[in-house]
Amino acid sequence: MKIHQLTEEQAYTSLRSYPNGLSEQEAHRRLLEYGANRVEEVEEKRLLPSFIQEFTHFFALILWLAAILAFIAEWNEPGQGMAMLGYAIIGVIIINGVFSFWQEYRAQAAVAALRNLLPHQVKAMRDGTIRQIPAEALVPGDVIHLTDGDIVPADCRLLEAFGVRVNNATITGESLSKACSTGRSSEDEAQNSHNVLLAGTIMVSGEAKALVYATGMHSEFGKIAHLTQIAGTTLSPLQLEIKRLSHLIAMLSVCFGAVFFLLGLWLGLPFWTNLIFAIGIIVANVPEGLLPTVTLALAMATQRMAKKNALVRHLPAVETLGSTTVICTDKTGTLTQNRMTVKQLFLSGKFCLPVEVDRLRNHPLLAVARYCHNLKQGEIEGKQTLLGDPMEIALFELAQTAMTAYPDHTQIAEIPFDTDRKRLSLVYRTAKDDKLYCKGALETVLPLCHDIYLEGTTQPLDEAQRQQLLDAQEYMAEQGLRVLALAFRCCPPKTELEHLEEKLTLCGLVGIEDPPRAEVPAAIAQCRSAGIKVIMVTGDHPHTARAIAREIGLAQNPLIIVGDELRHLSQIQLQLTLDAEEIIFARVGADQKMRIVQALKKKGEIVAVTGDGVNDAPALKAADIGISMGISGTDVAKESADIILLDDNFAHIVSAIEEGRTVFENIRKFMTYILTHITPELVPYLAFALFKIPLPLPIVQILAVDLGTDILPALALGAEAPCSDVMQKPPRARNERLLHWPLLGRAYLFLGVMEAIAAMAMFFYVLNNGGWQYGQVLSADHPLYLQATTACLSAIIVMQIMNVFLCRHPTESTFRFAWLGNRLLLLGVAVEISLILLIVYTPWGNRLFGTAPISIDVWLYAIPFGLAMLMLEELRKALLRYFNKQNR
Ligand code: ADP
Ligand code: MG
Repeated sequence: MKIHQLTEEQAYTSLRSYPNGLSEQEAHRRLLEYGANRVEEVEEKRLLPSFIQEFTHFFALILWLAAILAFIAEWNEPGQGMAMLGYAIIGVIIINGVFSFWQEYRAQAAVAALRNLLPHQVKAMRDGTIRQIPAEALVPGDVIHLTDGDIVPADCRLLEAFGVRVNNATITGESLSKACSTGRSSEDEAQNSHNVLLAGTIMVSGEAKALVYATGMHSEFGKIAHLTQIAGTTLSPLQLEIKRLSHLIAMLSVCFGAVFFLLGLWLGLPFWTNLIFAIGIIVANVPEGLLPTVTLALAMATQRMAKKNALVRHLPAVETLGSTTVICTDKTGTLTQNRMTVKQLFLSGKFCLPVEVDRLRNHPLLAVARYCHNLKQGEIEGKQTLLGDPMEIALFELAQTAMTAYPDHTQIAEIPFDTDRKRLSLVYRTAKDDKLYCKGALETVLPLCHDIYLEGTTQPLDEAQRQQLLDAQEYMAEQGLRVLALAFRCCPPKTELEHLEEKLTLCGLVGIEDPPRAEVPAAIAQCRSAGIKVIMVTGDHPHTARAIAREIGLAQNPLIIVGDELRHLSQIQLQLTLDAEEIIFARVGADQKMRIVQALKKKGEIVAVTGDGVNDAPALKAADIGISMGISGTDVAKESADIILLDDNFAHIVSAIEEGRTVFENIRKFMTYILTHITPELVPYLAFALFKIPLPLPIVQILAVDLGTDILPALALGAEAPCSDVMQKPPRARNERLLHWPLLGRAYLFLGVMEAIAAMAMFFYVLNNGGWQYGQVLSADHPLYLQATTACLSAIIVMQIMNVFLCRHPTESTFRFAWLGNRLLLLGVAVEISLILLIVYTPWGNRLFGTAPISIDVWLYAIPFGLAMLMLEELRKALLRYFNKQNR
C-alpha cells in the first residue's frame, strides 16, 4: 500500500523508522544510498554560448569591422603595415573577450558562493533529540518538525498536526491553501491526500511532525524540476544603463570616425592614411570592458556586504539599496535584541516583581506560562536548549523557577498565533477535563475573558477591572515593556474548535523587557544624516513602540497610527499621513505592511522593508528591497527577499546601504578614469590630420593603454572602500544618471586635456632633441620616430598613474586618502609600471608595439606635467568644495 494509505505505525515500519527518529549512523548510511536531498539544478548558464557571446557582441562587431577594413587596406596597398594593425585588433578582441568572460565568471561564482552561505536548515529527530540539520542531509525515515513559514524540505507523511495548512502552488498550481491532518487516507494519489506534505510546498500555518519518505530527485518536486525552466538572469537597471551608454559611446565613435574620415578627404589626405585615421578614432573611443567591470564591481560589493552579514540574493539589489529613501523596519529582533526577560507582573490588581513569583506556587498564570508555547527541546551544536521564540522561553523559565507540581496531560489542539489574532491557544487533555491555555495581546484576549483570577478565587470580570487592566498595560508599555495577557479555561470535553476560545479566565499580565541593540542608535543617526526616513512597523502596543523609538533616537513625538485606524484610512489619506516627519505604525496586522509599502511607493519613495513571517512575503515582494531576517525569518520570507540579514541587525541594513551607494560612486570613479585617456588618444590624430606631423600615437599603442595598462587600476577604483561622506548626503534622485555633464567635462576637457598636452609635449621633446624640423617626413621605422611615439605613450601612462589617485574622489583632496588604503590600486599601478617597462625596454615589446627604448631624461621631463595635473586638480576640488559650502 502507498504510504498515505497506512496508519502512522505502519508508516514507521515501512520506512524502518521510529518515533525517536533514526540514529545518526543509520541516517549517514541512508544518505550514501539515496543521495543528498537536493534537486539538481539545470546548469544555470552554459559556458560555451556565453564565451562565444563575448566575441559577437556589439563592440566586438565594431572591432571586427575595423580589423576587416585594415586587411582590405593591406590587400589594396601592401606594405603600409595595415595587416599588422588588423592582427593587433583581432588580438584585442580575443584578449578583451577572454578577460570579460573571466570577469563574468568570477561575478557569477561570487553570487553562487553567497547562496551556499545560508543553507536551508531543518529540525529533525536524530538519536531521540531534535537537531538543526541542513535540509540536504535529510533521508527517508527521518522524523522532522515543521512550523508555519517553513518550506517543506522533502515529501513526508504527517504524524502529528495542529492547524496545519499548506500552499501547494509550486506543485499543483493551486493557489488556495489546504488543511492537512493525520490519519489514513483512501486517496489513490499522494498529491491529493490530506496527510502528505510535498517537498517545495509552503506550510502556511500550524505545527507538524512528519515522516520523510522521499528526498531529492525522488520527491514529486524533484520529478518535475527538470521541466521547470530557470528564468534567465536579468540585468540590473545600472547594468542596462551601462549597456545603453556604451552603445551610445560606440555609435558616437563610429560617427566621429566617419566625420573625421570626410574631413580628411576634404583636407586632401591620401585615402589609406585617412582610413587608418578613422579606424584609430573608432578604436580609441569604444569603451571596451565597461560592462564586465561594472558587473564585477557589483559582485565585489556583494562580497563586502556578506562580510557585514547582509546576504544579497540578486545583483540588482546592490544598487537599489544605494538609492533607498525609506526603511520600514520591524521592532522586535531588528531594532531590539530579542533577548527577553520578564520584568514586571500584574496579578490580582497589583504590580509585582518576578522574584516574588515563587510565593505564588499554584497560580494558574504559571501553568499558562509553562505550557502555552511552541518551544521544542532540542540540541544546537551538541548543547541542550529550548528552540523557539525568546519571549516564550522567558515565560517558560519564569514558570520553571516557581512550579512544583506538573499536571499530567498531552496536547490535543492548537489555535496558532498570527499577527492578526495576536494570541496563541493550546489545549491539553487531562484525566478530568480539557485545559486551554491562551496568551496574547491584551486587546485580543480581554474580550474573550469572562472571569478573572483574584487571590485564589475566580470572579466575574467587571468594567472597572477591565479598565484597570488596560491602565496597567499602558503603564508597563510606557516603560518600553512588551505586555502579554495570560488566560486559561477548563473546557467541557468535545468543545468544538471555534468555541474553544470563549469564557476564559484572565490570570494576569506580564511585562517583558527586550532592550534595544547597542548599534542601533548610531545607525539611526546615520540614516538621518543620509536623508533616509525610518518608519517602525510593529505588532506591539503603541506605547511600547514609542518608548523604544525614543530610546533609540528614532522619534521624539511621533505620530502613531494603530492598525484599526489604518484600516479606515483611504489610499489618499494614508499617503498624506506618511508625510509626517516622525511616524510609527503599531498593532498592525499581517496585510497592512503591504499597504504601507504600496503607499510609500506611490509617493515615489524607494522602499526597503524588513520581514520575517509568512504574512510578510507579499510586502517583501512589493518593496523595492525586501529584507528578510536570517535568524527569525521563515523560509518563505527568505525566498521572497532580495537581501537576507544574517544576524537580524538593523545596523547592518545601514552598512549595506552605504555599500550600495559606494558602488555607484566607484563606478563613476572608474568611468572618469577610463574616459580621461580618450582625449590624449584623440588629440594626436587631430594634430596628425590638421598639421601634417608624423602620427604621434600609433593605433597599437592606443590598444596597449585601453586594454593593457589601464584595466587593473580601473578595476581597483571599482573596489574603493566607502568614503566618509557617502552617508552625509541625501539619496540620489531616482532619475539621476550615472554619467552627467560635470563628470564628462572633468574627464574629457580637464584631466584629458592636461594628459594630451603632456603627451604632445613629450612627443615633440624627443623629436626636437633628435633634430627633427617641421615638415620633415619620418618613415614608420625611423628610430627617432619610434622613440618619439614611445615618449607620447609613456606620457599618457605617467599621467594615468597620477590620474588614478586623483579619481579616488570627485571633490575631496587626494591627500585625505590613505595611500595604502586600497591594496588593489597599488597592485594596479605596479602592474601598469611593469607593463610599460616591458613595452619600452624589451625587444619583444618593441616589436609588438612599434616602440624603442627612451632615455631617462624623457621620463624626468614627464614629471612636471604630472605634478601640474595634481595641483590644478587639487585647486579645482578646493574651489568646488568652497562653492558647495557657500551654497549650503
Ligand atoms: P513585533 O512587531 O513586535 O514583532 P508581533 O507581530 O510579533 O510584534 O506581535 C504582536 C503582538 O502579538 C505582541 O505584542 C504580543 O502581544 C503578541 N504576540 C507575539 N508573539 C506571541 C506569541 N508567541 N504568543 C502569543 N502572543 C504573541
Ligand atoms: Mg514578531
